[in-house]
Amino acid sequence: MTESTTTPSWLVGTGKISMDESAKAPRKPFRFWLNRDSKSKIIFLSDGSDVPCIWEHQVKLRRKGKDDWNNYFTCLEASQGTCPLCAYAEEFEMYWKQQVQLYSIIELKPYRSKKTNKDVPYSRKILTAKKATSEILMRKYAGRLDANSTLRGACFEVYRGTDPKSASVGTDFEFKTMVDLSKLPKEDILPFDLNLFAPDRLLMTRVVERLMRGDLSGGLTHSSDTSGGINPQDLISGGVSEDDVGDFVIDYGDPQGNEEPHDLAIQL
Ligand SMILES: [Zn+2]
Repeated sequence: MTESTTTPSWLVGTGKISMDESAKAPRKPFRFWLNRDSKSKIIFLSDGSDVPCIWEHQVKLRRKGKDDWNNYFTCLEASQGTCPLCAYAEEFEMYWKQQVQLYSIIELKPYRSKKTNKDVPYSRKILTAKKATSEILMRKYAGRLDANSTLRGACFEVYRGTDPKSASVGTDFEFKTMVDLSKLPKEDILPFDLNLFAPDRLLMTRVVERLMRGDLSGGLTHSSDTSGGINPQDLISGGVSEDDVGDFVIDYGDPQGNEEPHDLAIQL
């Protein structure tokens, strides 16, 4: 089973996709990440054979007076030749894009649903693997093939090391067991629809406009650059505020607490 039988143009690859720029972006999947020196259990929904890969920009926006790096935008260059964030990156030497693979997973970590006020034992998330992680996962996939299976349904304990620069999706993946996914609801075991990652020119254009406006007012800084006489107060009052960006800031916040995962209906 693979994520898609077609290759959208914004994937690293070929092809074209038509885009309705006025369409409101659907809510993005939560991203899997770990605190340093912590672990979690995940089950792969992607089988590992044909993992989609995209270029994406990660942009810092200010929300509620805080720097928020959880803003990811799929690059437009591959599909449309030009990309507002590539142009911004070129001009201001920041927000370069990087290539990531998109693995759909289930994280076995309970959280309290705001809708139902009940504990939900697991959640579907996207694991974005940069180069080092993707190499690890390709080896894990090869290991699963040797065992006559794939990554799909494979449960791993994932640990993230203490190094601040360690991959936030974990540095160690220890295979635990294969899980019978058919015991879970159908909607919970599908890999994510790749269209959720389709680039959005209108959105990116608006983000860049805000970034530019922030720069003009001295209100927005980038990465760790706090030099250059920028008044910290400007950082809060100027630049991109949550209200400014409104709908198009994508909330990748983690809905979950820090409890150890408990064993669900799935026997591990
Ligand atoms: Zn770009």
